[in-house]
Amino acid sequence: MNREVILFLQVPTVFTAADAKISRELNVESSSRKLTRRQMLLASLGALAAGCSEAPLIVQQRPRPSWPTQMPQPRHDYTTSYQSYKPLPQPTQPATPTYPPTPQPAPTFTTPKPSSSYASSYNSPNIISRSSWAKMSTNTSRVDAMNGINRITLHHEGWHTVNFTDMNTTMERLQHIQRFHMKERGWGDVGYHYIIDRAGRVWEARPLKYQGAHVADQNEHNVGIMLLGNFEKQSPSNIQLASAQSMVGSIMSQYRVPVHRVYTHQELKPTQCPGRFLQPRLVAMRQSGYLG
Ligand SMILES: [Zn+2]
Repeated sequence: MNREVILFLQVPTVFTAADAKISRELNVESSSRKLTRRQMLLASLGALAAGCSEAPLIVQQRPRPSWPTQMPQPRHDYTTSYQSYKPLPQPTQPATPTYPPTPQPAPTFTTPKPSSSYASSYNSPNIISRSSWAKMSTNTSRVDAMNGINRITLHHEGWHTVNFTDMNTTMERLQHIQRFHMKERGWGDVGYHYIIDRAGRVWEARPLKYQGAHVADQNEHNVGIMLLGNFEKQSPSNIQLASAQSMVGSIMSQYRVPVHRVYTHQELKPTQCPGRFLQPRLVAMRQSGYLG
């Protein structure tokens, strides 16, 4: 079992100082360490915060999937073979409200550069390196090697709805996710490898050379891509979907991942993720023939 999943399953239920910190962030008075009903409720909400969730007890009973012994090797001709993503099919749901133009980056923001050979080995989409936003380094004692890539899983964040698009608010949200996953969940880094914000920007999260913590017991060889937002409550923006399609296509091309190994979280485990408004869009994307 993935080490981080074990850690997740072993998270104690006692109210710790770290929980108190989270409660303070939620504007909860926590001067007493005694757990009130309200604090228990907020603690349970916190468990849902900053990342999608699934039912760990059910998951724990499932058999471990078998994997091929030979992992596909990355292709080295990617930059010449990849083509920019094609337009998405028109949505069948009501159009999302008019989306404000992407604001200009804050003056203090330095143009990000790819930080790893993975990111630098293909041209599109542009990826904002984790060094541009992450406040904590990967805890390498809590991560396992990816050991090659042969599948992709898509998620939503599943917390509060997201309507912001500016760089600073987005970075603060990513920093919250990282803090939650590392300090509260005890994981080695953000659970996902890439996060796509509502403006369609792609943010590097956990380094791709490490297994993620996004599908219980199925993180090896599995690239985790999360779309920022709660798509049980809101629709993704079209630019966000287009960016996801581009990102998935890039990884498929580079690592020869076939389209039938592109999943949504709920196709692997019992969970609402990636939400009722995103799931059909991703299924349509997969069936469109634009991938692979
Ligand atoms: Zn998920």
